[in-house]
Amino acid sequence: MANKFRVFATCDIGESTDLLRKRGYDVEVYPDPVAPPRQLIIDKVKSGIDALITTLRDKIDAEVFEAGKGTLKVVAQIAVGFDNINRADANRYKVPFTHTADVLTEATAEFAFFMMGALARKMWTAEHLTRENKWDYWHPYLPFLGDEVTGKTVAIIGTGRIGLAMIKKCAGFDMDILCYDPAYQNHEYIKSIQDLMDLRHRRGISKDKTFIKYVSFEDALRDADFVSVHVPLIRAEESSTPTYHLFNDQTFQMMKRTAFLVNTSRGPVVDEQALARALKENWIAGAALDVYETEPLPADSPLRDPALEDRCRLYPHFASAGKITRLSTDPNKGMAGRCVQGLIDVLENNYGGDITKMPYVVNKEAFKS
Ligand code: NAD
Repeated sequence: MANKFRVFATCDIGESTDLLRKRGYDVEVYPDPVAPPRQLIIDKVKSGIDALITTLRDKIDAEVFEAGKGTLKVVAQIAVGFDNINRADANRYKVPFTHTADVLTEATAEFAFFMMGALARKMWTAEHLTRENKWDYWHPYLPFLGDEVTGKTVAIIGTGRIGLAMIKKCAGFDMDILCYDPAYQNHEYIKSIQDLMDLRHRRGISKDKTFIKYVSFEDALRDADFVSVHVPLIRAEESSTPTYHLFNDQTFQMMKRTAFLVNTSRGPVVDEQALARALKENWIAGAALDVYETEPLPADSPLRDPALEDRCRLYPHFASAGKITRLSTDPNKGMAGRCVQGLIDVLENNYGGDITKMPYVVNKEAFKS
């Protein structure tokens, strides 16, 4: 094949880049696990590459698009979230960008569910007790107890792809489910889950009747034992319902003192100073986080306070980090496979060259005639 397209990947995405090489592409992969300096990305783009493979660590904005004016044809992001890419700038320069929605949905939702369990049942603290040889006796309640997940009430904030997958998992644990989403409500899915809940109760699989419904944000926070966040990062200037610091002093105070927060969405959705306060002053019972306002989590973060250790689980942006989910070359299974497929679609004019028909392109609005 004689496709001599030039691609620069800001990180190694595994064997999927070989798929491009087999098609004749010239692919350069930044070898360091740490993100490349911004200037290097700009220089690569300026050198005339056709496509840029990016991660959420790379800020892609007007300066980058200007550097690629007339040559850069696509930005392929290996993630579903794309808050690092300035959509308005991409549209102005008419550069399509792609993402890897769907293939990470189940992996991310199951990780959120596991985080919820690990936090509430104090699995980390319990394992430390064993490892540090401090497990001295079996006792009905000493040295501590955890909180069950089964049968409790969970609030799902954001009922898009991952929120709905999380709902499915929570329903399996006989939880009552409160949903909140100001922009997208999938009533058919919610009704199907209720039907499933009712069937499980009728057939004696679930002892108690459970329910699922859409409610206001305030009601979701007020009544939930667990609050799981599945929203994109949206800043104030981008929407009338932004998600930046959606969790703050005020919203933490609406939650039950016994409630737990689980965040696998984006760090800036939670005001971390407010969260540290909420934990220290016992406004809420605990939090499990996979994402942070600054990543990696700074050494001086208040969330690292040893006093909060058993109530604050901290993970390294790991929710989608399953082997198949991250690296499968199959675009229907892996982020890497879907990332290169999105790039190929644009460069090779698949779908008759109609960008608005390409499934992985995000900013289709810029290409509508
Ligand atoms: P999605 O677009 O399908 O769903 C997001 C939902 O949030 C939408 O239904 C939207 O209407 C809703 N929403 C928007 N503003 C809201 C608000 N103010 N309050 C409540 N809901 C609001 O996206 P998805 O595929 O479900 O992914 C969600 C986010 O999860 C991504 O944008 C990404 O940032 C994050 N994510 C993180 C990881 C990880 O590894 N931790 C992995 C995958 C995705």
